Amino acid sequence: MISLPRIVRVAVPSPLYRHFDYLVPQSGPMPCAGARVRVPFGKRTLVGIVLKTADQSDVPLARLKQILEVLDPEPLLDATLLRLLLWAAAYYHHPVGEVIQSALPLGLRRGKPATVGQVDSWIANDRGRMLLASTSGRDTAEKRLLRFLADAPEAVDQSALALISKRWRAIVRSLVANGLVDVVSRKCLAQPPVEVVPPPSASTAQHQAITAIAAGGAAFHCYLLHGVTGSGKTEVYLQAIDRVIKEGAQALVLVPEIGLTPQFVDRFRRRFPVAVAVIHSALSESERQCAWLSAREGSAPIVLGTRSAVFVPLKALGLIVVDEEHDNSFKQQEGFRYSARDVAIVRAKREHVPIVLGSATPSLESLRNALDGRYQLLPLPERAGSAGLPSVRLLDLRQLARNNGLTPPLVDALRNRLERKEQSLLFINRRGFAPVLMCHDCGWIAACGRCDSRLTLHKSAERLRCHHCGSEAAIPATCPACHAQRLHGLGEGTERIESALTRLFPDARIERIDRDSTRRKGVLEEKLARVRSGDADIMVGTQMLAKGHDFPNLTLVGVVNADQGLYGCDFRSSEQLFQRLMQVAGRAGRADKSGEVIIQTFHPEHPLFSALRAHDYQGFANYALQERREAQFPPYTHLVLLRAESPERSSALRFLLQARDLAAALRPEESQVSILDPAPSPMERRAGRFRAQLLIQGRQRDALQHFLDQWLPQIAEMPQARKTRWSLDVDPMDLY
Ligand code: ADP
Ligand code: ZN
Ligand code: ZN
Repeated sequence: MISLPRIVRVAVPSPLYRHFDYLVPQSGPMPCAGARVRVPFGKRTLVGIVLKTADQSDVPLARLKQILEVLDPEPLLDATLLRLLLWAAAYYHHPVGEVIQSALPLGLRRGKPATVGQVDSWIANDRGRMLLASTSGRDTAEKRLLRFLADAPEAVDQSALALISKRWRAIVRSLVANGLVDVVSRKCLAQPPVEVVPPPSASTAQHQAITAIAAGGAAFHCYLLHGVTGSGKTEVYLQAIDRVIKEGAQALVLVPEIGLTPQFVDRFRRRFPVAVAVIHSALSESERQCAWLSAREGSAPIVLGTRSAVFVPLKALGLIVVDEEHDNSFKQQEGFRYSARDVAIVRAKREHVPIVLGSATPSLESLRNALDGRYQLLPLPERAGSAGLPSVRLLDLRQLARNNGLTPPLVDALRNRLERKEQSLLFINRRGFAPVLMCHDCGWIAACGRCDSRLTLHKSAERLRCHHCGSEAAIPATCPACHAQRLHGLGEGTERIESALTRLFPDARIERIDRDSTRRKGVLEEKLARVRSGDADIMVGTQMLAKGHDFPNLTLVGVVNADQGLYGCDFRSSEQLFQRLMQVAGRAGRADKSGEVIIQTFHPEHPLFSALRAHDYQGFANYALQERREAQFPPYTHLVLLRAESPERSSALRFLLQARDLAAALRPEESQVSILDPAPSPMERRAGRFRAQLLIQGRQRDALQHFLDQWLPQIAEMPQARKTRWSLDVDPMDLY
């Protein structure tokens, strides 16, 4: 009997925009779509995913190679998820093999068996506790870790320990060897504590939102939960999740940052008697694989994760929640440049489940969709419990004296909080001491040798640092241009504010929280713990402090300089500034004491501030949407950015000019696609390379996609394409 050839179409991890056909030996098992296979690829052996089985190929059979091994007897990725990944590869115009890879934990990518293993966790034993009780003296990393394990109500896994110390692995090993700590092997999932706490009674607005989501049932609906900071959005998520897990389905919850996961895990565990799978980049490979597989087999009713969790397989998806949906972190900014929020919406639609997008400051894209009736708007206009929104006061920097960036009214307000034993937060979006080092005699400015940017003065580290490429230099003693000794730091960073405060309030306990001061693992958690327990009076920090945190005794928020971004060059600058200010303002007065926000600015008359004072996000958004409509920017059009960079100034631009000529030949105007002129990027030189970009604007998503489908293969064929580093960004978040 003659049998038909057995052929599989395989996505292999390669930067090529295509899949590859392989023969399956007649004697062996036939892999199914979604299963992993080991295949020869050039001189290497790779693990790929079967997209499809077939009995013919466009390639002559004699030239097809055979697969080496079938790794999964059943699909690792189900058909729905596989289709979602193929859609994402097509929409973001990224090689399908790389897209599918990004959905798999590392071990599975490398061909490890897809089995849920046990993971280790640790707990202090009686000897460990006795030792703690009997020793005194200096706190070492060992002691801190032991105390952490002794205080924990149950065994602690490595995702938590990794946050305590960078050296946790070595320390734990020696604690175990010394008989102070026991190892417990268990499943990777976070289990609920013994006693689960019932929900509070919902406010009227919360109740309305919960009822609306329940009324939508199990079908696809996109809800935009627009709740002011502290309005109890999480409570709405919890009630929606409650229904879903009672029906035996799973809830997928996406958060923008790893730092927000413990808070959520804690709230889930205290509410629901079910296991929670957590998926983010700080996990070990075994933990990640365990969580991933538990989501896939349905043993985790709640799956919580950051961006990449949107691609986790789920046995019975019933609901998706995207918290802080406006946050930029949902967009991957390199490689496979997808938006997890947008993919989540597509996924919910394809799997016919509801999705809740939550934010105090929704993106203009989502707001417009709500205004047009595509999403259902669920407002929570007031704070939960007895808290009110903080008052907002503007200080005009043109009329006030400044001491290291701080005006007298702001200093008075800080003093007042110190006297009342309440906490304050000063927000400044620049780390370091001063953003510029300048010579007072000749005007020389310390610049980065590899970027079009200035070096930031870091006083405590005694270095000049570039915040764009990371290069460093020593602080010169005299001016390199005129040899004068009058070099001064201009402007303010977190370090300068911290030292000014130390001089103004020598007795105050000040915590600086930025990327420099929290580089060591565990320090951020320690600092936040001190703030929460009342062992800190004033916090000075960057964006890190603005998001999500709940500090009940914090009553004053000061914004040292709100003007960065006010007249920024990106069309999203003012949206992002407003969101950031509203988020940071939202930290003040969340409990029973009322809060105040003080904003220092050179432009108090700017309309953005009047909206901020009135907590009128909708008012600001209406104004911003109007502007976007007039300028024909998103959400009224769709953008794609072709970026290029090269070591010589001209060749990136030349590449883009050629690409534009190819585009013009495709007559894009017929599908209402416009191609702008290539231009150097706003910061042209970065890390020694010259960067340029080409913006494409389309009225209709489909027409724009169709255009890209034709254009991209042509670009890839250009001889110049091999010599230039280039990438395509669909729906870019910034135009840099
Ligand atoms: P958001 O996510 O909207 O900023 P949270 O969900 O963190 O707000 O809620 C803010 C605070 O209000 C939390 O401490 C929460 O426990 C509390 N809270 C939420 N809903 C209620 C309610 N219905 N009654 C009393 N307190 C509530
Ligand atoms: Zn000089
Ligand atoms: Zn640089």
